[in-house]
Amino acid sequence: MIHRAARFAFCPRDGTALVPTRIDGRDRPTCPVCGFADFMHVQIGANTIVERDGGVLLVRLNYGPRDGHWALPGGLVEDDETPEEAAVRETHEETGFHVSLEGLLASWMRPGFPILVIVYRARIERGELRVAPDEASEARFFPRRELPPLEELAWPSTAHGLDAWRAYEPPRP
Ligand SMILES: [Zn+2]
Repeated sequence: MIHRAARFAFCPRDGTALVPTRIDGRDRPTCPVCGFADFMHVQIGANTIVERDGGVLLVRLNYGPRDGHWALPGGLVEDDETPEEAAVRETHEETGFHVSLEGLLASWMRPGFPILVIVYRARIERGELRVAPDEASEARFFPRRELPPLEELAWPSTAHGLDAWRAYEPPRP
């Protein structure tokens, strides 16, 4: 079941009351001053694929409904950062590795789930593997053929990111 998401009543840019306006076949709350139109609201998740010696880094969650499941390093983007900054920050917080991003690998979103997950390829710049004890019980690198089974992955986006990783081929010169 798809719940009707909350809508803005006022423009988030200038505070003007929004008025219903027909755009792309639907009535949408729209700002008569700046043109802002209220489409869907989502949270943004930023994850990384960190590879070492052919293995991919996964963290085992130790909280919430996904307790004990494996996830890619990452988390939700905050108001004051870009998705790229969030991916780097969360990866460091969860695994101890300082990484640099090497490009977009995949994105995941499904109607009815108000979240967009972005998966980046990342390279370790420095640091030692060290999990954040309040977020994960362990973290380790999994070889391509020894990934956890689907039912041990935390989210659909985790499986999607790992599929994209397995299918990825670096650009040829
Ligand atoms: Zn406006």
